[in-house]
Amino acid sequence: MVRARQAAVPRPEPVVLLDRISQLVTMAGGADARRGKAMREIGLIRDGAVLISGGQVVAVGSAREVAKSTWLRQHRREVIELDCRGKVVLPGFVDSHTHPVFAAPRLIDFEKRAAGASYEEIAAAGGGIRASIAGVRGTSEQKLSEQVTSALRQAQAQGTTTLEAKSGYGLDAASELKSLRAIRRAAAEWPGTVVATFLGAHVPPPEFKEDPDAYVELLCAEMLPKVVKGKLARYVDVFCERGAFTLQQTVRILREAVRLGLRTRVHVGQMTNTPLETILAEHPASVDHMDELRREDIAAVANSDTVATLLPGANYFLATKKYPPARKLIDAGAAVALATDYNPGTSPTISMPMVLSLACTQMKMTVEEALTAATINGACALELGGQKGSVEAGKDADLAFFELDDYRELAYWFGANHCAAVMMAGSFADLF
Ligand SMILES: [Zn+2]
Repeated sequence: MVRARQAAVPRPEPVVLLDRISQLVTMAGGADARRGKAMREIGLIRDGAVLISGGQVVAVGSAREVAKSTWLRQHRREVIELDCRGKVVLPGFVDSHTHPVFAAPRLIDFEKRAAGASYEEIAAAGGGIRASIAGVRGTSEQKLSEQVTSALRQAQAQGTTTLEAKSGYGLDAASELKSLRAIRRAAAEWPGTVVATFLGAHVPPPEFKEDPDAYVELLCAEMLPKVVKGKLARYVDVFCERGAFTLQQTVRILREAVRLGLRTRVHVGQMTNTPLETILAEHPASVDHMDELRREDIAAVANSDTVATLLPGANYFLATKKYPPARKLIDAGAAVALATDYNPGTSPTISMPMVLSLACTQMKMTVEEALTAATINGACALELGGQKGSVEAGKDADLAFFELDDYRELAYWFGANHCAAVMMAGSFADLF
């Protein structure tokens, strides 16, 4: 049977000119992660303009330069012009580490912590990650996807246009697959970009407490092939930590993931040190947390292609005295990214501006380094540096607009949201 093809109606793609932008932070510099001193180069243009067509950036420069472009002259009649005076515009934040699939906040843990209990004491008493498992197992895919949608809306309201989302509170095949389908369902309704990660290796679930190796085997033999078959995730993540998975188990899972065609990333060094060399030999896209590092770990990550993703929201919320050694990592030449680690137990924030504030006040990053870490380097942590993370011709038109005069205010005001709008693939989610 020959199916009648619908006549293609030629529809002119909207052409948008963002004009007279008070401060345009371009992050120009191509697809690769920025390291060392290059992390301070944010490609700032005062009185800037961006020309957008077909969801992509066509031209960037000063308002005067862009006004002269031949492309603009040829398309002048179709152009929608927006006056962006009084605004700081930057590439939409890339939040490369979140755990949005959970059923409820962990308020009892929060109270216990305020009363002085540590993360590991709370976990030992049945709280922590394990407390979220029952919630996810008992919640429908529809309900979980509504939770994820709510998280995406909150992220977008604060300037995030690309977000990595992990499963990891189901911890059996059915609940992990349900979590990943919930991510896929929410992502389909959001105009931004969601990158899904399978984190079945978050902690061994209670039913495998006595035999975590058996859980690793189940994960490799049953869960991973189903994730691949359903095309449910691009990445596989492992929490390599005391009380979660050993280095040997981590490597076993990473290798199986790669064998099945998936890419990898690892939670490592949050509470105890794990020698990084063994993990880096598996070429993960990113190693995340990195609070507990030895000097040789810093050198090893600096000499690798793997991005070091720092999550200071977790340090803040857990009130650890120690933050990841951002200065040492940047000065050694590591590609440093920042993300929220949005999750119900240790980092209940989805605000990238809050993370910028923490980076500058607690980890002594410069505002420029923090912005680089939250945009282009975050994109590189998701291996999307060619499409996201900077405002450059040929890249996706994902932008965030802030009612500010100076980009440094992004990291200066904390606990306030100055994001006026975001543009995702060339369209405004909300017009200002
Ligand atoms: Zn995490």
